[in-house]
Amino acid sequence: MTKKSTPSLEGLACPIPLKEYPRVLMAHGGGGRLMHQLVERLFLTAFGSPELEARHDGAVVELEAGRTAVTTDSYVVRPLTFPGGDIGTLAVNGTVNDLAMCGARPDHLTAGFILEEGLSMKTLWEIVRSMRRAADAAAVRVIAGDTKVVDRGREEGMFINTTGVGKVEAAQPIAPSRVRPGDAVLVTGDIGRHGMAVMAAREGLGFENPIRSDCAPLWPLVKTLIAARLPLHCLRDCTRGGLAASLVEIAQAARVRIHIEETAVPVREEVRGACEILGLDPLYVANEGRFVVFVHPIQADKTLAVLRSHSLGVGARRIGEVTEAGSPRVTMKSRIGATRVVDLPSGEQLPRIC
Ligand code: MG
Repeated sequence: MTKKSTPSLEGLACPIPLKEYPRVLMAHGGGGRLMHQLVERLFLTAFGSPELEARHDGAVVELEAGRTAVTTDSYVVRPLTFPGGDIGTLAVNGTVNDLAMCGARPDHLTAGFILEEGLSMKTLWEIVRSMRRAADAAAVRVIAGDTKVVDRGREEGMFINTTGVGKVEAAQPIAPSRVRPGDAVLVTGDIGRHGMAVMAAREGLGFENPIRSDCAPLWPLVKTLIAARLPLHCLRDCTRGGLAASLVEIAQAARVRIHIEETAVPVREEVRGACEILGLDPLYVANEGRFVVFVHPIQADKTLAVLRSHSLGVGARRIGEVTEAGSPRVTMKSRIGATRVVDLPSGEQLPRIC
């Protein structure tokens, strides 16, 4: 399918001499010899695809006939590393997952790096290495990139933008416009882990059972759903704003009403506990390995069975349905039996989570 990138980086030390260049400096971003070091030694070693090796102004790739999905996202998570991943894993999985939500097989990625002066070169190498690991796991190649160094910020940080390109494999469009009254609403597993893993790392909270991010590439699961020829109407990953935001966004885009049952939404005990301590509602906490499925109700049980047959969807549950067309609204029957409206939070509940 895709041409192979350079060999694995496992165990490979930073190709830039750390004694000489312990930190990223503005001078590295000046287009001179230091930037050359960064690009030629660090990024090319890490991502060395034929397109990058061509050292051209842009990547020239052959696209398969049919529909192509394109998406872009910027990653600003703080801290850079958290249990279950880092900004590099996130920058790959977040973007390939948006392609997967379009029913597209992720093929190519571009990566833009904005590095703050003072960033440790060792940290940069570790993050780029885990990015490569995530790209291999998701079967995508980095074909173009850019690097800028900016003034020292409040922390020694970095930001990554990735753009993903993929071939749409779903025969029928998968989109909010296809959501219909009666559709079953499924979620692929327990929610809230990514946001809580990042919050715990940021706040230095040592929980008895450390929470790991659910960050994972979701295309293999989506591919399984497509292969089963299920009447999928829409998929949406539950990233920023959590499950609640995904449902509200779909309700608004499709102009429908959605009703869910709180008791049906899977939340792990440790996540529920951590949310209680921090005064958060797991419904609004970000995920990086979960998505909602809107499917024709006649195939809801089969869809659930297909999801559960895959390691990424073992915890899938049916959580509700699309009740009617009309002014968009999401409602939830709570644990105690009361029905309440699920709204978007007024501000950002958890900043810099992805
Ligand atoms: Mg998304």
